[in-house]
Amino acid sequence: MKLDFQNHKSLVIALSGGIDSYVCTYAALKQGIRVSGFHAITARPVAKMERSSAKWLANSKNFYLEITDFRQMLETQVGYLSFEAIALDELDTDREFGDGGGVSVTAFTTILSCMIYYAHIAGKDGVVVGMTKEQASGRDAIGAFSDLESSINKLNPKANSAPNILAPLRSLSKQEIIKLGFDLKVPFEKTWSCTSPQQTVRHCGKCAGCQARRNGFNASGIDDPTDYHD
Ligand SMILES: [Zn+2]
Repeated sequence: MKLDFQNHKSLVIALSGGIDSYVCTYAALKQGIRVSGFHAITARPVAKMERSSAKWLANSKNFYLEITDFRQMLETQVGYLSFEAIALDELDTDREFGDGGGVSVTAFTTILSCMIYYAHIAGKDGVVVGMTKEQASGRDAIGAFSDLESSINKLNPKANSAPNILAPLRSLSKQEIIKLGFDLKVPFEKTWSCTSPQQTVRHCGKCAGCQARRNGFNASGIDDPTDYHD
């Protein structure tokens, strides 16, 4: 299986440090595409471990990693929304908070906008988000991405065209992404999925992120190298 990057030659990849972002990066590098990474620091406890994973990949594959600090966003939102109502960088807010929990706000669109801005000034053709089949479900993501690109072009007609937004994993489930990563020799042990508020150097094994990771490995039949606490 080959991921479709639509003939782009230079991409900025949203590099959270999780499995999906690693698989996108390995696939793009194998296709000879020039990549750089974009990592968003958030106020979540998970931020430090994710950042470490993102840095490891950029260092190991020798590409540039732009790290942008979004922690202040939380401060601007407190006052009219409870902390629990803010999902920060997550696309899959339902999963993160079980029954939905009234989550209404995510910083994903803000982070995506900043990534496009960076790609634009850095002269990249496109930005890549690791949106999975589960995350794409119930959204018109491709329509929204296309609208966003055209809005930027309309607002900024004298600038170069806005970079395209690509979501090459959007038709793949977690287990399919893990199989693809296995074929690409992705070092899964370096990736980070745990979203537990009590972060340690091991995955907790219980949070939504750990469950999705575990289930994905189990369903794929590929050995899970993760060191879970439970
Ligand atoms: Zn966990």
